[in-house]
Amino acid sequence: MSDSLHAMLMSGGTGDPFDRHVLACAIASGFAPPDRLLTNTLALSLTDLRLLLETLFPHALGLLDVHPPWRGPQADEPEEPDLRALLYEGRTLGGDPTMARWLTRIITRRSLGAAHLWEDLGLSSRADLVRLMDRHFAPLAARNPGMRWKKFFYRSMCERDGVLLCKAPNCEVCEDYALCFVPDEAPHPATLPLTATPESPRV
Ligand code: SF4
Repeated sequence: MSDSLHAMLMSGGTGDPFDRHVLACAIASGFAPPDRLLTNTLALSLTDLRLLLETLFPHALGLLDVHPPWRGPQADEPEEPDLRALLYEGRTLGGDPTMARWLTRIITRRSLGAAHLWEDLGLSSRADLVRLMDRHFAPLAARNPGMRWKKFFYRSMCERDGVLLCKAPNCEVCEDYALCFVPDEAPHPATLPLTATPESPRV
């Protein structure tokens, strides 16, 4: 993340401090023109990007002056529509629907990265991601038995589709257990489903 851009974003504006921090991290880690443009790395239209800045970082609207012209939405990767649906359907009821929509699009796009999701989002720790999910996607987060978030997303999508791709009949005996679960948060294997669940190349 660009620490200086994050600091600039957090230096003004209004709104919930944690939400502003999360979005400042996503913006700071996603803006490095000409290669990394916010409309692509946040998966937001220019209209949504302007509204986000006006709402939370009005002092940073000048970013749009240095943002290259928008050429329309970047094409989805094949899994993005399903992942957006999973996240949005699992949003916290009673929460801000616009914030949920923005975060759904951002998290989905960043889930395509190669690192841990919290790193791809520019966050400083996995704990921030857990807090974000608990706050804005509480029903979905409650179903995560301690898996790494990308693994959990892909496993959930495959479960919805009735696809079972795991190597083992259950997590307890699976050689990929350490890849799927966060050691400190892993539940007792007895709490895990006995049906096989899909593996994903992402962590
Ligand atoms: S979710 Fe699948 S790949 Fe991961 S530990 Fe469980 S059985 Fe193994």
